[in-house]
Amino acid sequence: MIDLDSFSAEATGFLESNLKRCGETDAAWGSGPDGIELHGLEQRSDAEVAAEVAAARRWQAQCFDGGFAWITGPAEYGGRDLPIPYERRWRELEQGFAAPDRTALNIGLGMLVPAVFAHASEALKAEVLPGLNRGDLVGCQLFSEPGAGSDLANIATTAVRDGDGWMLRGHKVWTSKAQFGDLGLCIARTRRGDAPQSGLTVFLVDMHAPGVDIRPLRQMNGRASFNEVFLDDVRVPDARRVGAVDDGWSVVRTTLTSERAAVGSGSTTPGPRLLAGILRLARHTGASTDPLVRQQLADLYTRVWLVDITAQRVQAASRAGRAAGPEGSIGKLAHAGNLQRMSATVTAILGPRLGADTGEWGTYSWADLVLGVPGVRVAGGTDEIQRNVIAERVLGLPREPKGTA
Ligand SMILES: Cc1cc2nc3c(=O)[nH]c(=O)nc-3n(C[C@H](O)[C@H](O)[C@H](O)COP(=O)(O)OP(=O)(O)OC[C@H]3O[C@@H](n4cnc5c(N)ncnc54)[C@H](O)[C@@H]3O)c2cc1C
Repeated sequence: MIDLDSFSAEATGFLESNLKRCGETDAAWGSGPDGIELHGLEQRSDAEVAAEVAAARRWQAQCFDGGFAWITGPAEYGGRDLPIPYERRWRELEQGFAAPDRTALNIGLGMLVPAVFAHASEALKAEVLPGLNRGDLVGCQLFSEPGAGSDLANIATTAVRDGDGWMLRGHKVWTSKAQFGDLGLCIARTRRGDAPQSGLTVFLVDMHAPGVDIRPLRQMNGRASFNEVFLDDVRVPDARRVGAVDDGWSVVRTTLTSERAAVGSGSTTPGPRLLAGILRLARHTGASTDPLVRQQLADLYTRVWLVDITAQRVQAASRAGRAAGPEGSIGKLAHAGNLQRMSATVTAILGPRLGADTGEWGTYSWADLVLGVPGVRVAGGTDEIQRNVIAERVLGLPREPKGTA
């Protein structure tokens, strides 16, 4: 096995030959793009989004071909078979370079890969894992429905046997990335069971298949980053089933735990980047001399790095095929809380400049943070649901009483 220092030298060489280093100019006021990145919830035109997705896919493919896309993954699926510290070292090194934003690939990499890796047949793993890890396939998650969000077992989408495949029919909602998705991890009811969690099965749906109808949903910032997806007798081969028939709930649990870890993790959270932007804003406006703002900034700095360091460990473990535990909920809850605090801090610094675009660089763009944070607190399980998980599984408090219906 390559030692960590040789790996670092190889990774640095690869990064230097493909990307520019983050220079001093990036930290200067008025330089670089005027916008914030918030889990893909920020305002962008369709053309900008398409360009970002293309850049993300290109960079992911370069990383994959260079041996840096799935460092902890098994070699037979395109991984590098190296231990977690190598993944962490790669992330640290990559942060020093101007790498394209890979938010568009987060669901595929952070949720579909762990679910497929843990539950799918060998043939399905070989078919889709290299493509997902290389960015050739963009993943989305077809879980939520109009009547099933926190209470996911309440889904109404059905899958009925049809020869050597299944016929899926239903209505999914809030599906992020579906507009450029290739594969959707879909939960459907295959049997009515005694408990709502039984009789569910998970499939990988080809998002370009006949019967898949994707309709954008517009958010309060004007952007449509998620969609409704109608499945109108969509045929899915049995070979695209993930996990056993009627045992989809275990796949759901793997996916949701990985999702929480991914949302709160250092590799995907915009926390450190946003914090750097807020520090630059505070210096530019002079707010950094205000003792109250300084106190908020110091508090934020501590919290952001705490989440980042803790969650890097969780996500590396998840990408190495080990089930992430309830600590994913802690990371997600803490990350959402940090974003809420950042929102309050930029509001204190900018005041009315957040509400009206004066054209001044680096000011109005922070409205995206204020308008996007509520979505982050809901996506991937709401704050209340994360608190329930922590209360029951970490603190060992009595389980929430369930209704009798
Ligand atoms: C930005 C964004 C992106 C998303 N992307 C996706 C996606 O790609 N794929 C996908 O499948 N879904 C996605 N979702 C949907 C998301 O998973 C659901 O919105 C979320 O699980 C909450 O479900 P709900 O909206 O139905 O709210 P509900 O479950 O109806 O909850 C309403 C309120 O009741 C509270 N509540 C519910 N149950 C309890 C309880 N037991 N104890 C205490 N309080 C409770 C909730 O905390 C919330 O405040 C996304 C959502 C957002 C905002």
